[in-house]
Amino acid sequence: MNGNSSDKARKIAKESLDKLANDLEAGKSEALKQYLATMSRFHRYSWNNVLLISSQNPQATHVAGFHAWHDLGRSVRKGEKGIMILAPMVVKGDQQDPDKELKARGRLVGFRTAYVFDIAQTDGRPLPAFAQTTGDPKEYTDELKRIATARGVAIEYDASIAPALGMSSGGRIRLMPDLPKAEEFAVLAHELAHEAMHHDKSVERLPKVVRETQAEAVAFVVSHAVGLETNHAAADYIALYNGDKKTLIESLAKIQETSAKILEELLPEHTRADGQSHTPSSPSSPSATPLQDLASVSSDLPAHPDPLPEQISLDR
Ligand SMILES: [Zn+2]
Repeated sequence: MNGNSSDKARKIAKESLDKLANDLEAGKSEALKQYLATMSRFHRYSWNNVLLISSQNPQATHVAGFHAWHDLGRSVRKGEKGIMILAPMVVKGDQQDPDKELKARGRLVGFRTAYVFDIAQTDGRPLPAFAQTTGDPKEYTDELKRIATARGVAIEYDASIAPALGMSSGGRIRLMPDLPKAEEFAVLAHELAHEAMHHDKSVERLPKVVRETQAEAVAFVVSHAVGLETNHAAADYIALYNGDKKTLIESLAKIQETSAKILEELLPEHTRADGQSHTPSSPSSPSATPLQDLASVSSDLPAHPDPLPEQISLDR
């Protein structure tokens, strides 16, 4: 263990985290707002219908009815066969009904068959895309894989994890094949962070929002350090899980430590203490403290009100 080396890696991590905190403070990006608005128009299907849909079209990702697609600026191609689902038939509540709730909700009288179509069966305006990490990770993807392997984590490519891009299950990371290079790197860093932080059975499992914020913040730091353009992707991902600046700040030490450990292995030449120590390590550096200020933010801020729409699955 080299204390100085670790200090330097921590400093790199901290500088990136300042940026991420600013992004999170700015709130949801326009792109994310549009994305959420669109996704909220996809119906959430019952478990029975999810099974019906996947048995008829295992590749389906976004399904909606003929008219719903039209409203989203897309049309179902001629000759496409619909996916059958069961739609509930509800009659308006009887005005005399003493059960107020039932009156408002209506009464289920049965099911009828209805048809939906997957996005792949439609043409038209693209759905709003989620922000992505871009750039060229060069040899660092292989380096990151090597680090994972050295930690006893197997890496596999598996298309069946869709719609997730990556999955970490303790000793095993699965990645979606054929991701763009920069995305693959960012997803791998995210899963490696889950491996490092979230599979210790002896500690209580953290809430999902915290786990996703921690993993994505580590991915952000590591991606940034190898020169990738992280855009708004990490902040949007965290916001999607209703994480915010406060969530980030509360986990700062853990995020910094986990990122620093990866960076020490990934960028030994940058994190070594000897050699180029031109960076002023003096306390006079004026821009070095925003996160320390943030750390004093009171912890009784209200929880984020919006629940995560269930049909959105960008899990990684
Ligand atoms: Zn994750």
